[in-house]
Amino acid sequence: MTIVVDPTTPPCAHVPEVYQDELLHSPPARADITAAQWDELTVKRASAHRQCAGCPLMVDCLYRAVVEVDVSGFVACTTESDRRMIRRQLGIEVQQTATTPYGAPRIGGGPISHEAVMAARLAHPKDTCHQLAERLSCSTSTIKRHLRRAREQSVVAAPAGVPGRPAQPSVEAVLDCFDELETSRVA
Ligand code: SF4
Repeated sequence: MTIVVDPTTPPCAHVPEVYQDELLHSPPARADITAAQWDELTVKRASAHRQCAGCPLMVDCLYRAVVEVDVSGFVACTTESDRRMIRRQLGIEVQQTATTPYGAPRIGGGPISHEAVMAARLAHPKDTCHQLAERLSCSTSTIKRHLRRAREQSVVAAPAGVPGRPAQPSVEAVLDCFDELETSRVA
């Protein structure tokens, strides 16, 4: 028998019930479930994580789930809580009004601008990244990313924003925030 594998079908499409499992996408605290349930959850999460990590759509999936649509479920190696953390770091939120082909469009305060970070660095050259982050009300990793960008002198422009609306974060910015998460270090 010949098995035909459709390379465009992501792993989650074969087992949607796993990715929609509430225990997986909104995990309970360890103290709230039994040891057996915790072990079962750990195995389930590791399996879904492996599938996502090897998925060719991973980067696109993560970006859309963070920036464009506030989907439920375990998506692109992240829980809903993980994606909220990324949005907080980026300073964005997802509007729930569905006006795009994917559902809800992105809005928010927008990421801190490169110019703002560089101006703060110029004004406070002895500040640590943490101090600059506090001044600008953003994360330390955001400051580091902009300073690294300045060092490399290769500014990667974020996609153009809609007039009157902040620009979307770049894919690079989303991946930088993802790298800060515990889940990015799970093998
Ligand atoms: S990365 Fe996204 S598309 Fe790929 S398996 Fe995970 S949830 Fe599905």
